[in-house]
Amino acid sequence: MSTLYGLITFLSPILITMILILVYRLRTQVKKLQEGPEDDTINQLKALYAKGVLSEDEANVKIREYKNKQNEQMLRHLLNKGLMSREEFDEKVEGLAKHQQQLRVKELEILRDRLGQHQVSCLPEQQVKTWLCVCETINENSNMVCNNCRLNREYIFEEAEHAADPRGIWK
Ligand SMILES: [Zn+2]
Repeated sequence: MSTLYGLITFLSPILITMILILVYRLRTQVKKLQEGPEDDTINQLKALYAKGVLSEDEANVKIREYKNKQNEQMLRHLLNKGLMSREEFDEKVEGLAKHQQQLRVKELEILRDRLGQHQVSCLPEQQVKTWLCVCETINENSNMVCNNCRLNREYIFEEAEHAADPRGIWK
């Protein structure tokens, strides 16, 4: 009898630990199921941001571009599998483009606010040899300020990046 008691006393901490590990594993699995599969690319981009390799703005832009690409790939996948008609596909792609357009309008509004009293007619764009200013003037890359509105190029692009994702990296 005392041997059995001794055995139970000896085994119970091990049993309790095993039960705790089991409960913990189950909880993490349920949590994973609720959250859906994690996206490796987005996690990698977030990790690069955490390490300081990418700035918050750079990470935001890349995550957004990646999500857009994912959306279109998913639609194309549905089309190829015959789960979506061509008509529906075209409609959805157009919807995505429209959504992008709305985001750009919003971006422009935010950029207008950020640049204050300056004339802002479009989003700035970096081309190979030139850059497009917010006043719609095309400048040579060697021009650090716009020929027309005299705004500083670096300042414009910095503000535009901030305007690009006001919700932050974790959305
Ligand atoms: Zn300008």
